[in-house]
Amino acid sequence: FTTIYRSFAEQVERQPDKALFELPDGRQITYRETARTVGRIAARLVADGVTPGDRVAMQVDKSPEAIALYLATLQIGGVFLPLNTAYTGAEMEYFIGDARPRVLVCSPERRADHAHREGEDLVVETLGTKGDGTLLEGDGRHDEVVDASADDPAAILYTSGTTGRSKGAVLTHGNLASNCQALLEAWQFTDQDRLIHALPIFHVHGLFVAANMTLAAGASMYYLPKFDVETVVELLPRATVLMGVPTFYTRMVRNDRLTPEACASMRLFVSGSAPLLASDHETFEARTGHAILERYGMTETGMNTTNPYEDGPRKPGTVGKPLPGTEIRVVDGETGQVLPDGEIGSIEVRGPNVFSGYWQLPEKTAAEFRADGFFITGDLGRIDEDGYLCIVGRGKDLVISGGYNIYPKEIEALLDAHPTVLESAVIGVPHPDFGETVVAVVVPAPGQEPQETELLKFIAGDLARFKHPRAVRVVDALPRNVMGKVQKAELRKRYQDLFV
Ligand code: ATP
Ligand code: MG
Repeated sequence: FTTIYRSFAEQVERQPDKALFELPDGRQITYRETARTVGRIAARLVADGVTPGDRVAMQVDKSPEAIALYLATLQIGGVFLPLNTAYTGAEMEYFIGDARPRVLVCSPERRADHAHREGEDLVVETLGTKGDGTLLEGDGRHDEVVDASADDPAAILYTSGTTGRSKGAVLTHGNLASNCQALLEAWQFTDQDRLIHALPIFHVHGLFVAANMTLAAGASMYYLPKFDVETVVELLPRATVLMGVPTFYTRMVRNDRLTPEACASMRLFVSGSAPLLASDHETFEARTGHAILERYGMTETGMNTTNPYEDGPRKPGTVGKPLPGTEIRVVDGETGQVLPDGEIGSIEVRGPNVFSGYWQLPEKTAAEFRADGFFITGDLGRIDEDGYLCIVGRGKDLVISGGYNIYPKEIEALLDAHPTVLESAVIGVPHPDFGETVVAVVVPAPGQEPQETELLKFIAGDLARFKHPRAVRVVDALPRNVMGKVQKAELRKRYQDLFV
């Protein structure tokens, strides 16, 4: 078992002068230079009193030094806690109060916001995006490595808060290393790869998939502050892999410069974190010759399933098969009985990637695990005829109307196919007769004005009567969180009084 930190250190030994980061201004930062920054930050953290098991929280804009901070924390046995840069006042209060970090690293501009928190238990450091900040002050160097075992906590990541309050998922060194290894193999990722990294690093996708794989393989990354479609399309001819959320691809297919020639050096496009529209999958393939590889993961488990890299088709609308070492089953949520393939049920997962528990929520943790160690993901899905997993939605978004189960995704797919609709979200709202009933919320396609009766007529033929929306609402945009996920809880609240 090799920790992520050790894998990185091995690459530093093996190829010190290789570029790990290439920045938008063309500047390159090698493995050796990164290791120096890691040693310097580690010295600072130790001086701040961080001992093994202590949390080191970070809320900063993306920079190479932020990755060095992550590695330094792992090196000294700390527990890394990256926080979404969008969080403000009350949210930060919750996360800091809940996680009780020893050190909080914030951006220099936010230094004053945290002054009141500073005291005996918490040291506040700053880190900017131009190599500035108190964290980088001092010229100490800490070389000692705390050798973590597989069960030691490496990080706490808060879930995206799509369905409720964010929960801290405690991930171990074993979780991170095993998942990284499984992905390197599944996607044949090597030191020859040049990854376009345009994801945030406070989440599983950008940190534990994209960055860990690059570090462990000894690859390079084009490290962008955020996703910008022009920049990404321009980089394609020099890169081999792109990892993105579905909105990356939605925007790329609208860009004229996305051509097969631009993608000549690319070998893999990955999508995850939210469902990729089958139509985007098809358009992208038609435009580039590349089938996007969709995979499924979550904060609590890292990656669970992936479409095949080479042995088998990448099927739009599916998230593929379990990664080696990971087991997936679809069960009846009530009884826990495994369902026959094809039937929709609750998705459960077991394997070395599955987290150790929610931070300081033992009861919540106990409630989400089965006695045999399977974790209840909260997602609903079915296994198709080829053994691929299809996600149909979240358990919490299921609509139960007059005793019938209604899966929003089925209705959304039909609505999305209408030319006046850009995208849609189907929700259940309270109804005096049916308990719940279906409401469709649609966003118009550019220049279009969707009409309720027209839409209802359009989808009626393909849907049983009880699934027909009882109301259609047109909105400018769906409420999304920073990960691009539609917040249905927000929509349910907005339309809760429509029928009662
Ligand atoms: P919270 O748990 O706080 O409500 P969240 O579940 O959105 O938030 P994450 O852990 O970031 O927090 O997201 C994991 C979820 O994202 C999965 O449970 C699943 O619902 C969804 N997801 C991830 N990848 C895919 C995918 N390829 N297709 C469909 N859904 C996906
Ligand atoms: Mg979740």
